[in-house]
Amino acid sequence: MSENGDGEIMKRVHEEDSNEDVNLPKKRYYRQRAHSNPIADHCFDYPVSPQQMDWTQEYDVSMTEQSQVEFADIGCGYGGLLVQLSPMFPNTLMLGMEIRVKVSDYVRDRIKALRKKHPGQFNNIACIRSNSMKYLPNFFRKGQLSKMFFLFPDPHFKKAKHKWRIINETLLAEYAYVLREDGRIYTVTDVEDLFKWMTSHLSAHPLFQRLGDEEMKADPVVEKLFESSEEGQKVSRNSGQKWCAVYRRICDTSS
Ligand code: SAM
Repeated sequence: MSENGDGEIMKRVHEEDSNEDVNLPKKRYYRQRAHSNPIADHCFDYPVSPQQMDWTQEYDVSMTEQSQVEFADIGCGYGGLLVQLSPMFPNTLMLGMEIRVKVSDYVRDRIKALRKKHPGQFNNIACIRSNSMKYLPNFFRKGQLSKMFFLFPDPHFKKAKHKWRIINETLLAEYAYVLREDGRIYTVTDVEDLFKWMTSHLSAHPLFQRLGDEEMKADPVVEKLFESSEEGQKVSRNSGQKWCAVYRRICDTSS
């Protein structure tokens, strides 16, 4: 299938709703309060280094032998983006990282059910419960990722909580580390103040360069950013506005 097989993708996403033998998990059984403190010490399992990570627990052994995780959906919520991107990039391993336990359980069960329902498909997506603000370099090597997604990140409105925002100066250094040259960071939000915050930090960083309108139009992933995820759909239902920006990881000429 071509990477841009949009007709096929829509068909598959519809199939997800059709009822056959396998039941998809119901979100109402996995509800959890909206925010989890990303600075608190939750108890997570994480590898000491990327070399120690056993990806065969998450994906087909054959896929892990051929490739490594390339896309990371940070704060993936209920996993809608992963499900949309899976058939677009069938040979690319994608990982959702989600801090809330019930929400990550939902995504894991959703992927399991989708794999059962559609044998041979959705083997390239997985979700782990983790705090991506703390453990990203434990999972990914330098330059491993080609795409990172930050869809509708928690806005943390109060000034005292701005340090919890998932795009900030310190974390951008980590994102630049795990992203390969020419890799991309995708951001979308319905909060204008947060959009200004994210774009001002990203634009100020020497290793990121914002894509222009034409480049954004040429990227088949961009149009998927607005409606694929559950939060994006919620914003649309409430007739909210959405702001999107994409940045390229540029070459580090200082070293
Ligand atoms: N991206 C999803 C979407 O568009 O539907 C979810 C958006 S929701 C507003 C933000 C998500 O990020 C929540 O599910 C939250 O639990 C998760 N999150 C917040 N901080 C996180 C962190 N440090 N590591 C992993 N996930 C995090």
